[in-house]
Amino acid sequence: MRIETDILIIGSGIAGLRFAIEASRFAEVYIVTKKDKAESNTNYAQGGIASVISPDDDFELHIRDTLYAGDGLCDEKVVEFVIKEGPKEIQKLIEIGTEFSKTENGRLHLAREGGHSRNRIVHAKDLTGKEVERALLNKICQIDNIHLLENHFAIDLITEHHLKPKKLKSKKINCWGAYVFDIEKQVVHTFIAKCTLLATGGLGQAYLHTTNPPIATGDGFAMAFRAGAVIGNMEFIQFHPTALYESDSDYRSTKPAFLISEAVRGFGAKLRLKNGEEFMHKYDPRAELAPRDIVARAIDFELKKSGDKFVYLDLTFKDKEEIINNFPNIYEKCLEKNIDITKDFIPVIPAAHYACGGVVTDLNGQTSIANLFATGEVAMTGLHGANRLASNSLLEALVFSQYAAYRTEKILKEKLYNIPEGIPDWVDTGKLTTEEKILISQSRHEIRDILWDYVGIVRSNERLSRALHRCKLIHEEVKQMYHESKISEEILELRNLINVAYMIAFSASLRKESRGLHYNIDYPQKDNLNFLKPTLIQNPAVLQDF
Ligand SMILES: Cc1cc2nc3c(=O)[nH]c(=O)nc-3n(C[C@H](O)[C@H](O)[C@H](O)COP(=O)(O)OP(=O)(O)OC[C@H]3O[C@@H](n4cnc5c(N)ncnc54)[C@H](O)[C@@H]3O)c2cc1C
Repeated sequence: MRIETDILIIGSGIAGLRFAIEASRFAEVYIVTKKDKAESNTNYAQGGIASVISPDDDFELHIRDTLYAGDGLCDEKVVEFVIKEGPKEIQKLIEIGTEFSKTENGRLHLAREGGHSRNRIVHAKDLTGKEVERALLNKICQIDNIHLLENHFAIDLITEHHLKPKKLKSKKINCWGAYVFDIEKQVVHTFIAKCTLLATGGLGQAYLHTTNPPIATGDGFAMAFRAGAVIGNMEFIQFHPTALYESDSDYRSTKPAFLISEAVRGFGAKLRLKNGEEFMHKYDPRAELAPRDIVARAIDFELKKSGDKFVYLDLTFKDKEEIINNFPNIYEKCLEKNIDITKDFIPVIPAAHYACGGVVTDLNGQTSIANLFATGEVAMTGLHGANRLASNSLLEALVFSQYAAYRTEKILKEKLYNIPEGIPDWVDTGKLTTEEKILISQSRHEIRDILWDYVGIVRSNERLSRALHRCKLIHEEVKQMYHESKISEEILELRNLINVAYMIAFSASLRKESRGLHYNIDYPQKDNLNFLKPTLIQNPAVLQDF
């Protein structure tokens, strides 16, 4: 089927939905999403959204905290822009119907998280993402000119490279929509759009241990890279220090590790070794409230030293009712695993959590490809730099989605698009055998192991060169499988995962220093002379993967 529309949005998390609501004022909008509409990283966000709300807070403090976490690589103009837009975006979410937690006197309850110098996390108990996603989806359902299609998997962006060579006029790349695999009908549709938004979220599933749900296979990063967009800072992967350690868990599965929110440390929880000893004060004067990279590296170091598999998070000295009231979801989830967090220590390990890099955009979410926008976790806007401050990502998604929508309004009004004749439909002739299915699943495990072992919390030149070498081998195999087999979600995700794994390992190998989330034991110091800049990469052989 061929569908022509003003705007195609790929992804139904906070970024895609916020954009859709704004764009529906002036355009016909299609949202395609590869699973159930609510299945997204957004739905799993617990802590909340950082914003300057309290009278004892101000923009300068939030800006300072963000810049400090970003370790020299934030774009100060972007930081100021996003933070100043924060309160308006919170107000919009409230107008849409989001129910945030309130104090007894009816004001927004503001929590504290690591790296923040004030209480500024607007939240809905410990299920903020779920509540925001609910409210946004509810609003979307009431808007007639938004069409949301579940189980529709975007394969590739449509650009000049899909046209016959004689139609190529300039070197500038334009995006005219995407090829989308309809999983239920098992056919590929051609979506032709005047503007396209990538809102595909993160890539945590590229790592063995992750807090990200199965959808987070980095599809948007890979699609943009294949299409020739500029991609930045892929080496900066944030590891959440405290994912629940489950001894019986099957780490081979794509099930996400359950997150014990940053807010639990903000609430006063202590990290302890197996013998009960506290250790965070040895690494940073802010102890448990230090930014995530410092806490994750401290845990990694202690675990390597002791050979233990986890450390403990301790809340047992806090008031029982307060714990249950503030963290009902964490309390329930842990209780299901026979851990009563009011009485027992919680076993935790670090896990891949957030990609600070992504598709490079300007202040309007515009990528280096004309009429292709990227917002949310898939984008690199300059807000996070080398490390993301907790709860700044939902905020970033909201602000950039709004501004990207303003920009598309101008593009549509002024007809700043030129969709050529002759965009071909997708041809799929391959087969998918049982043997191929097995190989696909094994390659996926290999990629996750490679990134965890060689491009994880602590890196070295040798580990990175191993990772790159192995990625190249797997890439060759995947390329062959992709060309020979019939389109399936499995092969598409595998193709994206290997592209993403390569981008992370390659970017990490380019940064010959340690900064923010990137720590290489061969270059343990920061090198401001040579590396006080983002790592930018662009696929040299457009559409030939890499
Ligand atoms: C456990 C957890 C807790 C977190 N807590 C917080 C927090 O408290 N505060 C905070 O600011 N941030 C938090 N984060 C990060 C934050 O949730 C994400 O960065 C943010 O939700 C990303 O939103 P998004 O819209 O960009 O992507 P997502 O919400 O992940 O949505 C991506 C969408 O794209 C779809 N998609 C992906 N690929 C394709 C494809 N090929 N075709 C079609 N559709 C596709 C997915 O199905 C999904 O609908 C947390 C993340 C996790 C995992």
